[in-house]
Amino acid sequence: MSALFPFHGGLKTVRHKTESNQTPIQPTILPPRLTVPLRQHIGAIAKPLVQPGDRVLKGQMIGQPDGYISAAIHAPTSGIVSAVDPQPVPHPSGLSDLCVTIDSDGEDRWIERQPVDYRQLHPSELRNAIRDAGVVGLGGAGFPSAVKLNPGNRSERLDTLILNGAECEPWISCDDRLMRERAAEIVAGLQIMAYLLGPQEVLIGIEDDKPEAIAAMSAVCARTGYKVRPIPTRYPSGSVKQLVKLLTGKETPVEGLPTDVGVQCFNVATAYTVHRAVSCGEPVISRIVTVTGQVNQPGNFETLIGTPFAALIAQCGGYREGVERLILGGPMMGFSLHSDEAPVTKAANCLLAAGPAELPLEQPVLPCIRCGACMDICPADLLPQQLYWYARAKEFDQARNYHLFSCIECGCCSTVCPSHIPLVQYYRYAKNEIWAQEKEKQRAEQARQRHQARMERLEREKQEREAKLRQKAPAKAEPAATATTTRRGSET
Ligand code: SF4
Ligand code: SF4
Repeated sequence: MSALFPFHGGLKTVRHKTESNQTPIQPTILPPRLTVPLRQHIGAIAKPLVQPGDRVLKGQMIGQPDGYISAAIHAPTSGIVSAVDPQPVPHPSGLSDLCVTIDSDGEDRWIERQPVDYRQLHPSELRNAIRDAGVVGLGGAGFPSAVKLNPGNRSERLDTLILNGAECEPWISCDDRLMRERAAEIVAGLQIMAYLLGPQEVLIGIEDDKPEAIAAMSAVCARTGYKVRPIPTRYPSGSVKQLVKLLTGKETPVEGLPTDVGVQCFNVATAYTVHRAVSCGEPVISRIVTVTGQVNQPGNFETLIGTPFAALIAQCGGYREGVERLILGGPMMGFSLHSDEAPVTKAANCLLAAGPAELPLEQPVLPCIRCGACMDICPADLLPQQLYWYARAKEFDQARNYHLFSCIECGCCSTVCPSHIPLVQYYRYAKNEIWAQEKEKQRAEQARQRHQARMERLEREKQEREAKLRQKAPAKAEPAATATTTRRGSET
């Protein structure tokens, strides 16, 4: 067994996995109405391809990728489009975004699916097929996978392809169940990824609290040369930079990407969808969602994208008493939903119905005592208390100098802080402010460029007019000269 390279800090958390991982993945339910957001990924929102009244089939593309970093969106079932308009989406802001609403016809009728043998396709055709199937990172990031599967001019430097089955956040067990039950399909997707990226080695990282998943993946990988690596159960081992460090010993540069050190990383559920997209011709129209906490029958559910969370809760037998918040994602990195009417999206891995037992006790926030506990625990090797001071004082340049953007918002620092300071909230606030300032700068720069272009155009037009006038001036004198010539001509 090869060595592991522990990362700095991290937490031993209470796992709460057994509440949901003891039963097989439950089959899909078909709600009467599905609301499908056109933005479920990092990058440009997909362009709607349908309008109200259109009939659609299951798997039909209803949103076209708009640009290189974008992703396609598909109808999760057959039916009639009843609206293309802004609807509430799962987002910390509770804001709405453009969605396609489909009233199901109950037939769940597929488009004609066209599976392909990936070895027969040129890599660019294969990436296009993956892009058109709407495959994005299902670990929560939502980055379009076709972009990450394009080695560009980096092909010679890609040493390692990592498949992330760590699933380190408490309560979530959808990847665990997927690996236990569908290991062959995950590895089939991984083979397609390896075909496109040509890595020297393929590693699969799984936390050692998932022995069944490790066994299932190891059994399938025995034929492939891919190495399954059990890793210690320590949050946040599934965070990309920490997993890269753990498995390869390589440090991803501050504000850099794993590809900078010759590594690319995908979630196990993403590999599964790559297989379904290519080898079965099925775009991403569903995902496995863990529903847990204060619900009557917690578990994992194959769920159509666009299903209201309320329908999922009903599938679990409804809420138990005392639910105070619905958390999407998990208690460490997730966020509270404003309503259970919001729809399931590609990134929605877990719905935690949280009561008092699942929520940390509200404690009064006290001044920072500079104890350094946050620094000791920070897996990104940052100085969280300094970031806090700068964020609080709105000294955003300083926060940036202290690598604010390397903060993965894991919440370890807030968890151990004896003064109960909501540190991550300060970092999110500072990041949002910096992004807003940058957007403002960009807008001002664009306005400046537009103004400059206008002034240049006006100047050009003025010069063209003057040139024309200059051309015309001798032309005005021309008739006299002509007349003279004519007279002379007539004289001769
Ligand atoms: S853990 Fe809390 S109190 Fe201690 S240094 Fe960090 S921010 Fe300050
Ligand atoms: S939230 Fe950010 S600063 Fe706090 S421990 Fe995690 S990475 Fe470090």
